[in-house]
Amino acid sequence: MLIMILIGIIPTVIVETVVLRNYENRAVSSRSVIIRNQCDIICNKLAKEGYLEDPSNENIEAQLVMLTSIYGGRIIIVNRDYRIIKDSFDIAEGRYIISPKVMDCFAGSETTYYDSEDQYIEMTAGIRGTGPDAEKIKGVILLSCTTKEIEANKTYMSRVGLLILGIIVILIILGGFFLSGYLVRPFKKITSAISSNKGDRLTEMEPVDTYTETSQISEAFNTLVSQVNILNDSRSEFVANVSHELKTPLASMKVLSDSILMNPETTADEFREFMEDISSEIDRENAIITDLLSLVRMENKVDEISVVETNVNELLDLIIKRLKPIAEEANVELVAESFRPVSAQIDPTKMALVMTNLIENGIKYNKPEGGWVRVALNSDNSFMYLTVSDSGIGIPEEAYDHIFERFYRVDKSHSRHIGGTGLGLAITKRAILMHGGLIKVTSKEGEGSTFSVRIPLTHIV
Ligand code: ADP
Repeated sequence: MLIMILIGIIPTVIVETVVLRNYENRAVSSRSVIIRNQCDIICNKLAKEGYLEDPSNENIEAQLVMLTSIYGGRIIIVNRDYRIIKDSFDIAEGRYIISPKVMDCFAGSETTYYDSEDQYIEMTAGIRGTGPDAEKIKGVILLSCTTKEIEANKTYMSRVGLLILGIIVILIILGGFFLSGYLVRPFKKITSAISSNKGDRLTEMEPVDTYTETSQISEAFNTLVSQVNILNDSRSEFVANVSHELKTPLASMKVLSDSILMNPETTADEFREFMEDISSEIDRENAIITDLLSLVRMENKVDEISVVETNVNELLDLIIKRLKPIAEEANVELVAESFRPVSAQIDPTKMALVMTNLIENGIKYNKPEGGWVRVALNSDNSFMYLTVSDSGIGIPEEAYDHIFERFYRVDKSHSRHIGGTGLGLAITKRAILMHGGLIKVTSKEGEGSTFSVRIPLTHIV
């Protein structure tokens, strides 16, 4: 509204000032031209009639009176001796006048002077001789006339201007008030839709299509709302899953300890057996919490990736060495093949986690006898490739995307018996994404699965 008022008022004030100033200049100059003409006419007459020699010419006297009364001024006529021979105010007759203007006029330069403060125009005009003396200046007319009516017109015009300005200001204030209210109404609608959105589940607003901007804002808001809702849903689902996963080992421990407590005849062997079961449930609970923490840390970016140039072949050898005993225990043949020396900018701890999780899964979800897990490491100019294939139970195609979700297991009962937290692949995928890489799975149920990982050799932040 303020901007509108300023935009309305500033040009009006400028226009008014410029118009008034122009009017004064033009009025004064046109008045000067008219008076100068009159002066020239009078000068010619005075010269012709020989007024300077004999000032008692009534005809001229009448013309001078008329001239002074029309222009509200004063005429002084000075002869060659600088003596005033005529003063229309009858004050200075007979006196001498030696002013610079009069002297300049005798020297041939006629002057016009405007005094804007006292509001009058003063000019000098030379009275030339006749016949051979036509070029000589014999006398000077000093004429001053008032410009009060120019000032009066100016005052009148400025008053009218002020009145117009006042009307414009009032119109602009009223218009600005209503127009700005009207213009911001769609934004108010958006604000109230946003501020009324409370609680866990946000509601989308009706699109406000009044302006392109408002429709863009409401569209952006609705996109944000749906993202927040998805996030809220997944958070609730995550909390529910976590609670469920954490409660399962606790429930088992409760059952085991209750059965010891309720049976006073528990033998030492039974007691030991139950305690072993309780201990393994504690291990399981511990594994879930550890995995959960590392996943949450990675997702919240608390765990920053610390990249170093790493010899990936050595890293893989180390992991294979660590997992060999587990593979042997499960009767699974574990073979690793490096096609070339691979050096990459990676976080070795996170990459070790990726390799361990994939190989461990290959061992876990394998055949009871005679199964194998093959790991291949290769690279080209830009990427390193890690492939972990197994001869295990395989994964149904519809589960390809889900296995990377938190707590997702293809076969819940089977997995529980095998162990595992349901978080391994979620952590793996997160770690790979932090490296700017990709993971892909192909599998055939009953025949085995292949997990392919691609990581850039140079880490780009
Ligand atoms: P878990 O701790 O249950 O192994 P993961 O996140 O590592 O959790 O794996 C998620 C699910 O994906 C597993 O429960 C299993 O059903 C399936 N899965 C993962 N790797 C394999 C594999 N190599 N062969 C068959 N199924 C697999």
